[in-house]
Amino acid sequence: MRFDIMTLFPDLVNTVLGESIIGRAQKSGAVEINTYNIRDYSEDKHRRVDDTPYGGGKGMLMMAPPIYNCYSAILEQQKDVGFAPESRRVVYMSPAGKVLDQKKAEELSKFENVIILCGHYEGVDRRIIDEIVDEEISIGDFVLTGGEIPATILVDAVSRLLPGVLSDPECYEKESISSGMLEYPQYTRPYEFHGVKVPDVLISGHHANIDKWRDETARELTEKNRPDLLEGKK
Ligand code: SAM
Repeated sequence: MRFDIMTLFPDLVNTVLGESIIGRAQKSGAVEINTYNIRDYSEDKHRRVDDTPYGGGKGMLMMAPPIYNCYSAILEQQKDVGFAPESRRVVYMSPAGKVLDQKKAEELSKFENVIILCGHYEGVDRRIIDEIVDEEISIGDFVLTGGEIPATILVDAVSRLLPGVLSDPECYEKESISSGMLEYPQYTRPYEFHGVKVPDVLISGHHANIDKWRDETARELTEKNRPDLLEGKK
């Protein structure tokens, strides 16, 4: 899977995605992540990428031409790889998009190429969304200053579903949300911490009882924190 990320702050994206599991996945070739500075594609001699909105209003808007030039350069660069148009998805990170969930991450993990546009300031000229974007994705009902952090969240959520990124698919299949419930409580050494011991059942070696305890505690936690996940399951 290849990600191409259009942004005004490539360092921000590269720093986050260059670390830990996704950093290692890039080194092993399980995932390819390229970033492009939209400013490099400005036609303006001062490398401007934003302007005031028509009709008035506060703030600046990212202009369509630099984004379009950047997008065209990515497609040009990909020519050798030869992605079929249906194997590519173009996403704009936006608070006005549909909220990201595990199902959407799974859906995107089936594409060979995901191109991500990160907005900044007051967002981007609508015409670029209408022309190049397949879908707008939000990471939640709040507004951030830019699309870079949302993009890193999307790339992380999708990448960990790809072959060779996590050591074992079981790592995510039994996790919160993926399993349809929240994950059961987990413990590691030391056996006793601040006077609280690990539940007896977990050191009993009785696997059927451990599974039962995990199912029960997962359900309890889900009922408490995310009862909406249990709707229709009772
Ligand atoms: N004026 C825009 C609106 O009301 O929809 C908000 C622009 S926001 C300040 C600047 C950029 O941050 C957006 O273009 C988008 O790329 C990103 N952004 C902010 N909040 C986001 C969220 N919840 N999910 C995804 N991207 C977000």
